[in-house]
Parts: sequence; structure tokens; C-alpha cells
Amino acid sequence: MQNYEMLIDGRWAPAADGQVFQSDNPFTGKPWAVIPRAGLQDVDRAIEAAWAAFRAPAWRGLTASARGLLLYRLADLIEAEADRLAAVETRDNGKLINEMRGQLRYLPQWYRYFGGLADKVEGRVIPIDKPGVFNFTREEPLGVIAVITPWNSPLMLAAWKLAPALAAGNTVVWKPSEYSSASALELGPLFEKAGFPPGVVNIVTGFGSDIGDRLVTHPKVAKVAFTGGDATGEAVYRAAAKHIKPVTLELGGKSANIVFEDCVLDDAVNGVVSGIFAASGQTCIAGSRALVQRSIYDSFVEKLVALSKTARMGDPSADTTQVGPITTQPQYRKILEYIDIARGEGATAVLGGAAATRPECGDGWFVEPTIFVGVKPDMRIAQEEVFGPVLAVIPFDTEDEAIEIANSTQFGLAAGAWTQNIGRALRLSEKLEAGTVWINTYRAVSYLSPFGGYKRSGIGRESGLTAIKEYLQEKSVWIDAQGAPSNPFVMR
Ligand code: NDP
Repeated sequence: MQNYEMLIDGRWAPAADGQVFQSDNPFTGKPWAVIPRAGLQDVDRAIEAAWAAFRAPAWRGLTASARGLLLYRLADLIEAEADRLAAVETRDNGKLINEMRGQLRYLPQWYRYFGGLADKVEGRVIPIDKPGVFNFTREEPLGVIAVITPWNSPLMLAAWKLAPALAAGNTVVWKPSEYSSASALELGPLFEKAGFPPGVVNIVTGFGSDIGDRLVTHPKVAKVAFTGGDATGEAVYRAAAKHIKPVTLELGGKSANIVFEDCVLDDAVNGVVSGIFAASGQTCIAGSRALVQRSIYDSFVEKLVALSKTARMGDPSADTTQVGPITTQPQYRKILEYIDIARGEGATAVLGGAAATRPECGDGWFVEPTIFVGVKPDMRIAQEEVFGPVLAVIPFDTEDEAIEIANSTQFGLAAGAWTQNIGRALRLSEKLEAGTVWINTYRAVSYLSPFGGYKRSGIGRESGLTAIKEYLQEKSVWIDAQGAPSNPFVMR
């Protein structure tokens, strides 16, 4: 068993009351790490440390360029440790080592991009309509940011928040998911090594039910940056609203992957499989609804099932594995419940539809790649996020109908479409109600391009130039250079 401590104010420590919890390896189903279970006292200490660090000259006195350099150094350190960190993530959340290695090797780019941006944040001089008055704006950090992340891509989703927050000059208290805290605690020393002053980045581990509300509502927390499920996101939003606190919410999705008769069929099959079975469907951008034009429906489903059947399940730390376990036992049960719900609604599983009991799955929490046909757009399996390897296939006749079905859920995180018709691609890019639209590709993200949700999928954007704005506030400064007295009883 590996024993971890939390990072508060530059010091590594257990929870004040000594409480711990165990983290399980989803492939073996057995605990492998002991993690501190923070209480309110620990959270308060972390927030106070971040609040003091925000005001301390060691951080506040740094130039933006110097802050940027710290992020560059951090990026280099992560790059050097990428494979080790990937292995920790795979052990803790069961995602494929191949995917995690790729993610961790790419991750430094977020820190570099926002490190580079740190000293390119500029205010404006406004040609104000009052003679002799000089008006300009300053872009200022907000203060302490509470960063709350889920278990599915722990370090990447944290980087999307930490990099812009720190580049903008804020300080941070980060609470990773209780199911994937180890990699956050492994990353912690790299912030210290890079030279971030104590208290700038604090990491508290524990249960959202114990400490989440305190993190969100503490008066010294200026903003909450959250990724997680929509129900938790709603609770966070409500709690933050009581204190008029800004939030960034990256929530769930029920993304449509639309296959038109004019697509390159093999590419589309590949894209739909990657959209739902990569990461065992545990991604917010999972293309969990395949909308297929009726004229190619039968041949598409046949090819889809044939390719999905070849997926190699098993040990996520093996290079050859393609579908790994479900990260948490509650999530595993939830997926199996959704499979029952789909059958109860009249859908038919043409592939999978059960827990996986293949010998190569050992004692892990595995669900067979599952494809449901006979799905109607208003069924729960077509409306609610399953967060697992379960695909709902829905036929359509016309482009308008496809768009209507694609837009018919409360979510709007992403959508994909497969077509060779450029006019159609442009129409879809406009009409699909989603923060990301992929045409002839799927599941592509970059530090350069904004990511976020329409509708119930969230508020705010991560990555790309505008993301740093989420961590800044604009101040308008007025200087009267004329010095002439004015009438004190009228507005100037
Ligand atoms: P949850 O919403 O359950 O948890 C997310 C985080 O919130 C965890 O750290 C959790 O802690 C914490 N939390 C729980 N309760 C509270 C509370 N009352 N106040 C503050 N924080 C709280 O999501 P999951 O971890 O289950 O992750 C899966 C979900 O994340 C999916 O629905 C998925 O769609 C979404 N997601 C969205 C993405 C996006 O960018 N749009 C990307 C990836 C995932 P604890 O773990 O201790 O409960």
C-alpha cells in the first residue's frame, strides 16, 4: 500500500484528525493506496494559506513573465515524469496506459500555452468621452480559486483549470475526486520543484460530501472551477450563487455522432467506436448516441458490431488492451442499471449488454461494449448520460431530422458528423447546439481550442485564448488630468 499526504501551505501533512480512506485499483478491485480524508479544518487551512499566498510578495510581486516561467518549468518537469504519472493514473482509475501516456505527454502543452500567455494579458486605453480624463483597464486575478475535478482524466482536467488560473496570478485549492487522488498528490511536488511559492497551490483530498460545500462557500474563495456530473454541478452552482461567486462548470453530455449516407463508411464506423468505447465510454464527450441515416443503417450497424466485437478487454496497463475497466464500483453498477433500463424501454442489445466475465478481465469492474438498437430519441438511454461503454443507435431520414434529434437532449457538450458534403458540414457546424462540433473526426481536443458546454453541459470555456479571461476580472481606472473643479452635485 502506498501512503499519501496532502499539500497545504507548502507542507505535506495527513488530515488534522488523522482520517484516511483507501483508493482501489479498478482492474484488481483491491485497494492500493491510503489517502488523507480532509475535514473542514484542513480545507479552512488550505484556503487561508492560498488567501495569504495571494497577497504575499513572493507571488503577488512576481512579474507576469516570471509567473509564466514557473509554468514553463512545471511543464518540463511533467514532461520528464509523464510516463510515471501515467502509470499512477492507470493504477488508480483504470484507464488504458496507452491513452494515459498520450495524455500525460501532451499535458505540458497546457502549462506552456498559458505560461506563454501570462505576460500577454493586456488592459485597454479607452478614448473616453470626457475631456481631460484618462481611462484605462487592468486585468486582475480573482484571488483563491477552488478547483474541483472528477476521476476520468484527473490530471488533464485539472491542467485545464490550474494553468490559466495560475497564469492569471490566482492561487488555488484543488480537490481531486476521491476515486483518483493519487496522481494529484504525485503532481504536487512538481509545483514545489518548479518554484511556486508555498500556499500558491494546495491539494486537499477527501470526499465531496464532507468538504465540497465548504470549498465552494468559504468567503475567501473567489471562484469555483468545476468539472463533474451535472447534478453535482447544479449543487455547486446553487451554493456559489448564495455568495454571488463566479463558476466555471464543465458538466456531462449525451453527444450525438451523426452518420450520413455520403460518409466514408469505414471512417465513420471507426469514429463511432472511438467515440463510445475508448476510455470505456467514461468521457464527458462520449458519442453515446449514433444517429444513422436509414439508407445505410443496416450495413453501418453490421460493420459497427463487427469492429466493436474485436475490442480487446483486460489489464489497462497492458499496451495491447483496448477497453479497460470501469473506474469505480458505483459507476459499474450504474452502467448495468442503465442497460436494464434500456431493455425495459424496449431497446435491443445487438452487442454486449452485460458485465464482462472474460478471464482477461480478472476481478475488475468491466462492462461489455454494448450497442442498443430499436432506440427512440425520447428513451432514457437516449437522453441521460450513462458514462460507460453503452451506445444507443437511432435511425433518421433527413438532415433536418438528424439535427432535431441531436439537439433534443438537455445537454450540449459535443457532436460529431460524418459526411463528404461540405455544404452539409457547414450547416451542421451552425445548427448543432454543442460547444464542440467535429466533422469527420471525433474526440479531438487541444490546448489551443476552446472547450465547454451549451445548455446543461456547462458554463464557461477551458483552453484557448479566451479561457484565461475566466480567471481575471476587469477594472476600469479613471484619472482626471485636468484638475479643474467640477460641480459636486452632478454625475461626472
Ligand atoms: P461528480 O460530479 O460526482 O464529482 C466531481 C467532483 O465534485 C469530485 O471531486 C467530487 O468529489 C466533487 N463533489 C462531490 N460533491 C460535491 C459537492 N457537494 N460540492 C463540491 N464538490 C463536490 O463527477 P464524477 O467524479 O463522477 O465524474 C464524472 C462526471 O464528470 C460525468 O458526469 C462527466 O460527464 C463529467 N465530466 C465532464 C467533463 C467536461 O469537461 N464537461 C469532463 C469529464 C467529466 P468526490 O469524488 O469526493 O465525490
